Amino acid sequence: MDRQARVCVAGYKGLVGAAILRRLTSAGFTDIVKADRGEVDLTDQAATRRYFEHEKPAYVFLAAARVGGILANSTYPADFIRDNLLIQTNVIDAAHKTGVTKLLFLGSSCIYPKLAPQPLKEESLLTGALEETNEWYAIAKIAGIKMVQAYRRQYGFKGISLMPTNLFGPGDNFDLKTAHVLPALIRKFHEAKRDKSREVVVWGTGKPRREFMYVDDLADAALFLMERYDDEQFVNVGVGRDLTIAELAELVREVVGFDGAIQLDPSKPDGTPQKLLDLTRISALGFTPKTALREGIERTYRWYVERSG
Ligand code: GDP
Repeated sequence: MDRQARVCVAGYKGLVGAAILRRLTSAGFTDIVKADRGEVDLTDQAATRRYFEHEKPAYVFLAAARVGGILANSTYPADFIRDNLLIQTNVIDAAHKTGVTKLLFLGSSCIYPKLAPQPLKEESLLTGALEETNEWYAIAKIAGIKMVQAYRRQYGFKGISLMPTNLFGPGDNFDLKTAHVLPALIRKFHEAKRDKSREVVVWGTGKPRREFMYVDDLADAALFLMERYDDEQFVNVGVGRDLTIAELAELVREVVGFDGAIQLDPSKPDGTPQKLLDLTRISALGFTPKTALREGIERTYRWYVERSG
């Protein structure tokens, strides 16, 4: 990719979009256009089309989405399915119609069937029922992947899709009602330490297994694939290791330095039992993530402390 080419990051204020922006800047890209709610309402078809006609980007990283943890997904199912379908349909179609050279769409590991064999291979998509707590979001993301594939088949549009595992890092959402587990635990342990509480409540049985990737590693993979991959099959991106929620809670407790107890609350939902991605495809392309989980949590915790004081 020519470092002078115009690159659009849709959703640049989000966890992933902001990391992609950092990565593009460090790679020497000089003409980056940013699209977020402040610039353009990507759920509005006409506004999205006007934005693309005006800005004329050559490359698009489509990281704009309505995202949230297990509670947000089950509380706002309509918002999750509608906003994601609208944003991705509008952006992919506007990109095609305004002559974008290449687009990268970001999916999510929750698109896989709940009981698909682990680690999850790309071929498992649409082979079984989804996890019901986030099927609204998953259905929208599956539609996005299929749309990118259909535009490639019918119009020769160069769209690729990347399927990230659970991500975390600076810029994450720390609102306990909508956050994913890792930022939620950072906040809970931090506040428990500050308030000298005796315990921290962790939702569910602690048994589900999750894989976590530091978001700057994901941004590396996004640029890597944009530059070197051009095929219909989407690509999993993860770290290749998972741990239980109980183990994660212990790790966050250590990083934050809270010496009280961990109390599990099994009345809260566990969600899918395991979500580990198979990385054969991306590994064969030559990509490996750099950041160890503890180091990623330490950096994220430092960012959280600096910001929240
Ligand atoms: P998921 O990966 O789509 O299931 O979404 P989450 O990141 O929200 O939740 C992952 C797992 O962590 C689930 O089993 C949750 O029950 C568990 N968990 C434990 N404590 C928390 C918490 O404080 N917030 C969230 N969001 N999840 C938690």
